[in-house]
Amino acid sequence: MLIAGAGIGGLTAALTLHAAGFEATVIEAVRELRPLGLGINLLPHAVGELTALGLGDDLARISVATAENVYCDQSGKVLFTEERGLAGGYRWPQYSVHRGRLQSLLLAAVHDRLGPHAVRTGTRLLDFEQDADAVRVRVPGAEIEAAALVGADGLHSAVRARLHPDQGPLLWSGVRMWRGAAEARPFLGGRSSVIARGAGNVELVAYPIGPSLINWVALVPVAEPGPLPGDANWNTPGRAEEVLEHFGSWDLGRLDLPALIGNSPTILEYPMVDRDPLPTWGEGRVTLLGDAAHPMYPVGANGASQAIVDARVLAEQLALDFPRGLAAYEKARREATAAVVAANREMQRTGDARSPEELARITATYRRATRADHHQH
Ligand SMILES: Cc1cc2nc3c(=O)[nH]c(=O)nc-3n(C[C@H](O)[C@H](O)[C@H](O)COP(=O)(O)OP(=O)(O)OC[C@H]3O[C@@H](n4cnc5c(N)ncnc54)[C@H](O)[C@@H]3O)c2cc1C
Repeated sequence: MLIAGAGIGGLTAALTLHAAGFEATVIEAVRELRPLGLGINLLPHAVGELTALGLGDDLARISVATAENVYCDQSGKVLFTEERGLAGGYRWPQYSVHRGRLQSLLLAAVHDRLGPHAVRTGTRLLDFEQDADAVRVRVPGAEIEAAALVGADGLHSAVRARLHPDQGPLLWSGVRMWRGAAEARPFLGGRSSVIARGAGNVELVAYPIGPSLINWVALVPVAEPGPLPGDANWNTPGRAEEVLEHFGSWDLGRLDLPALIGNSPTILEYPMVDRDPLPTWGEGRVTLLGDAAHPMYPVGANGASQAIVDARVLAEQLALDFPRGLAAYEKARREATAAVVAANREMQRTGDARSPEELARITATYRRATRADHHQH
């Protein structure tokens, strides 16, 4: 089996396929996998999947177990608190973790279990063709033959573009996001995620990803929703001054925003984008996984979590029937992930809620729509 993309989804798929008895090789476009990115969240069901792969202890070591989401206004007044992870009655913890550290952990497990050559970096998928028996993948200077191909190549997936040439542009919510992380004193007991909203639906989300490392995301609506003009890249640098313009008058008490933003060595800018769900993902011996299959707004902590669940279902279905399990995988995951894409949009639209009752309703609706409660005790 060939997997294109060594992100969170592709590496997890290598591990689940290996556990199910398949040989898997991952080809990755970049020459060197550096621990890029900032904070991401893993929901309990994704933590359950990684625990089943034997990675629970390693994961616990590099993550912060989130106990609650605290919703407040721009003066720090608490409006609503939602318990999360074990504290919220789930079977597994919810984790906040540095994306690069999570990717490094998965990569080390792949090397350990599948061998040192299981991930081929500097090997970008350029194109592929297939017949009834095999897929032939073109990479720079070579062709690789495989029994099946999993496109886990992210937001700008080449596999998806080849399968769906008319997929259209990325869709932008109109929100600009800046992200950063800085050393700072722990706040609210060190396991809380703060979601503060001010005038004009400007929002600041902050959560710890280490004992004294706080990750933050600033969300500022700047345009009407529509096709994205330009491009979306996870590594576009941003400037502290630009972010601080929107939060100058905010006072979140123990969380010193100007210091947090000003002390962040790296600030990245990203437009909040997704795509409309596809009517089908793959065909024949080719399928899609993670952001390549279902890019979604990075709200609700579901991007990496859904990619991890995809990886488990893919291996499960292929172990039952190869390669026909690809269709069963798609059937199982397409509707479920389309519901999450829709729930993330809805959450973004209804984001101007202020009252505790509205916040309780919206968070409960989101949990139901994304089936997060499905795995509760
Ligand atoms: C550099 C980077 C930083 C990120 N930082 C954050 C963050 O801070 N916060 C957050 O919420 N989300 C972040 N994300 C997105 C997040 O990782 C995903 O939404 C989620 O984990 C689902 O992952 P995925 O494996 O489907 O896709 P991704 O994590 O995007 O991984 C896709 C992988 O495929 C590789 N690739 C692309 N094209 C090809 C090709 N043609 N051939 C071979 N390989 C290819 C890419 O280099 C990448 O390694 C980041 C993604 C990237 C790539």
